[in-house]
Amino acid sequence: MKVLMLHSPGDLRVEEFPKPTMQPGEALLRVRRVGLCGTDLSSWRGRNPLVSYPRIPGHEIAATIVQLSEPHPVFIPGMDVTLSPYRHCGQCSACRNRRFNACRENQTLGVQRHGALADFISVPIDRLYRANLDLRELCLVEPLSVGMHAVTRAAITDQDRVAIFGCGGVGLGAVAAAAFRGAVTIAIDVDDGKLALAREAGAAHTIHSGRQSLPEALAAIVGYHGPDVFIEAVGLPETFRAAVELVAFTGRVVYIGYAKEAVTYETRLFVQKELDICGARNALPEDFRQVIEMLEQHRFPVDRAIDKEVSMEETPEALREWSDHPTRFRKIMVRVG
Ligand SMILES: [Zn+2]
Ligand SMILES: [Zn+2]
Repeated sequence: MKVLMLHSPGDLRVEEFPKPTMQPGEALLRVRRVGLCGTDLSSWRGRNPLVSYPRIPGHEIAATIVQLSEPHPVFIPGMDVTLSPYRHCGQCSACRNRRFNACRENQTLGVQRHGALADFISVPIDRLYRANLDLRELCLVEPLSVGMHAVTRAAITDQDRVAIFGCGGVGLGAVAAAAFRGAVTIAIDVDDGKLALAREAGAAHTIHSGRQSLPEALAAIVGYHGPDVFIEAVGLPETFRAAVELVAFTGRVVYIGYAKEAVTYETRLFVQKELDICGARNALPEDFRQVIEMLEQHRFPVDRAIDKEVSMEETPEALREWSDHPTRFRKIMVRVG
């Protein structure tokens, strides 16, 4: 079968690879669409510390079931599905707490294991999700579920006013998820295009933090007390700090961004405001199901969120272009079969 193999940073090639053999409990899938996100770009650039080479990338997947190792009440051959690309160990403290998304030994398809940029993959049946969605929508379920998980971590309801730093792939998912829960959602970014898309995804308000004073703009929307929740999806020390400084007393702060440098805090704010501060990583099955519901209700601007569609042969060049112009794309989708 045909695959895209990342031999080393910058060296992605279409080549032949043995077709997978279906194991007990697995489904053989024909891959149809694969979404590429910032993680894949980092792997291509050699800046993803979790990836090893050579590696077949691809963790945002729409596929058609070819064959099942055993009959199943829901899944049948010919059905289009998406799937969770995560694999947990079942032994660590995260797994024992049933928070499999944060497994200490987590292995994600396309990162620590070969992924879906291949004609066929074989995966455990319990990893599959069916939905009344087309292939492009199925392919967006995983990336959007990461933002949904952050919203779940903050227990966001329609009573909340939620500010979100960063409207890239993950942040945009958090915007859509918070709006889907009925919260008043405020999207913050320094890119007009991303802010326009955030509005289409459900943001009631947008703030361009490069042009506007963030404290003043926030106060004009939510008043002097500040938003109930701050979600950080950028990963900069300034935004990590601003979330704690600007959130309301007894507010919640969720971090999805990875800060590369150490961050210095005025820790008295943690105590004085009695904040709940937490991290969010990957997603749980419940997050996948909620994103499917959101997409089935057409609550996300699918067409505008996909910047470019390419064939497998065009993918190496598309990643090169993305690496040269990182702000040109948010989501590239590969037509596999
Ligand atoms: Zn991704
Ligand atoms: Zn584990």
